[in-house]
Amino acid sequence: MTKKPEDIILIGGGLTAKCLALMLSHSGYSYRWLGLPKGAARRDSRTTSIHHAGMKMLSALGVWDNMSEPACSIHTIAVAKGGPPHKTGQKDWPLRWYNDTPAMAHIVRNTVLSDALDAVYRGPAPLEVDITSFDRTGDITRLTDANGTDYHCHLAVACDGSASTIRSLARLKAVPFSVKQTALVSLLTTDRPLHQTAYQRFLSGGPLAIMPTADYEGSLVWSMPDEAAHKLAEAGAAAVSAALQTSFGDGLGRITISDDVLLWPLKPAFMPMITAPGLILAGDAAHALHPLAGMGFNLALADIAELADCLKTARSRGLSAGHLSIQQSYTAKRRAEIISLTAVTQSVNWLFSQPDGLLSSLTELGFVGLGALPLKNKLKQIAMGGQLSRPTLFSGIMPF
Ligand SMILES: Cc1cc2nc3c(=O)[nH]c(=O)nc-3n(C[C@H](O)[C@H](O)[C@H](O)COP(=O)(O)OP(=O)(O)OC[C@H]3O[C@@H](n4cnc5c(N)ncnc54)[C@H](O)[C@@H]3O)c2cc1C
Repeated sequence: MTKKPEDIILIGGGLTAKCLALMLSHSGYSYRWLGLPKGAARRDSRTTSIHHAGMKMLSALGVWDNMSEPACSIHTIAVAKGGPPHKTGQKDWPLRWYNDTPAMAHIVRNTVLSDALDAVYRGPAPLEVDITSFDRTGDITRLTDANGTDYHCHLAVACDGSASTIRSLARLKAVPFSVKQTALVSLLTTDRPLHQTAYQRFLSGGPLAIMPTADYEGSLVWSMPDEAAHKLAEAGAAAVSAALQTSFGDGLGRITISDDVLLWPLKPAFMPMITAPGLILAGDAAHALHPLAGMGFNLALADIAELADCLKTARSRGLSAGHLSIQQSYTAKRRAEIISLTAVTQSVNWLFSQPDGLLSSLTELGFVGLGALPLKNKLKQIAMGGQLSRPTLFSGIMPF
């Protein structure tokens, strides 16, 4: 006899999959979790900025209070175009966003967030399998692994990252943007306090961001052309500290790299379709953004929170998890935010990464435009979350 299909099968093993599994464990739906066989995990010293609405969601799910170290709140975001000013008296950081209460965002270490998600999760553990085929017949999705074992469900949710295998198996397209940039990632210490401020300099090779993790400690994400990133990383931590000091300036006193320097190739892409019959994409599988806005995981949180609302509504109407209305409603709720953030991050990165001289007046105009009051206020609201997407969990309320 064929085994009864699960309501939902979740595929993936990153932060999105962990958070989705936690949401499903509260939902009342039956589900199974499929992850890849565990290889050597890549060291992840990155931090993630989580916006205010995302913090409320993680609090409702019990994650926020279970983190082994508190998040560092950001109250100011300071942005500049180009390197530090050469002339005395010239103003640095001409663009600033400030919010006292609530904080604009919170910086957490990825490892701390991942451990907290593991600590509060009480559902089935991921099965280690390699899915090699996807098929939808009637209202059943069938996933088959490399050993020929089938897994049946009404709805599959793929959170298997920007190079998603499930997305390819279901023939959903990804349109890559060729940015040819790699992010240099590390931790650093400073001589002067960061004052709960996130800094971003738009340099001609790519954006340089320093996020505070404590008074005199921060994390670095420095995007630059691939070759330059590899060369600088190979030169070692002291060379990165020196280059950083020159490019960032002396505003934070002496800056010293305090951890390994890691490289993250950047592969932003746009997915025109984020659902197919019996399949929903979430997290980087559905939208791979340039990290300059620190929004990739915040979008993933919105995916999960909107899906929770869709599932809740379907259940109250007596519909199965694979009902077409869930995919339609999920697409409708996610489309605007994904398209706008993809467009903004791509165009800002392109415009501000042009070599000096080329398009300089357009770049100047773009930068001045960002500071125009109505747009500036709107950007602040978007940065704090819950503007382009307003699911129940973003208000700190569990929908189930
Ligand atoms: C340098 C950098 C800085 C960033 N900073 C921020 C920030 O400050 N704020 C923010 O919101 N976002 C930020 N982001 C984006 C954020 O890190 C990502 O959006 C987020 O980690 C995506 O998580 P994910 O689980 O969707 O994908 P991934 O982290 O890619 O995880 C995918 C998972 O799926 C597993 N997998 C792959 N294939 C399969 C398969 N076939 N079957 C089963 N499992 C599979 C993988 O093993 C992996 O565990 C940053 C990104 C970068 C590169």
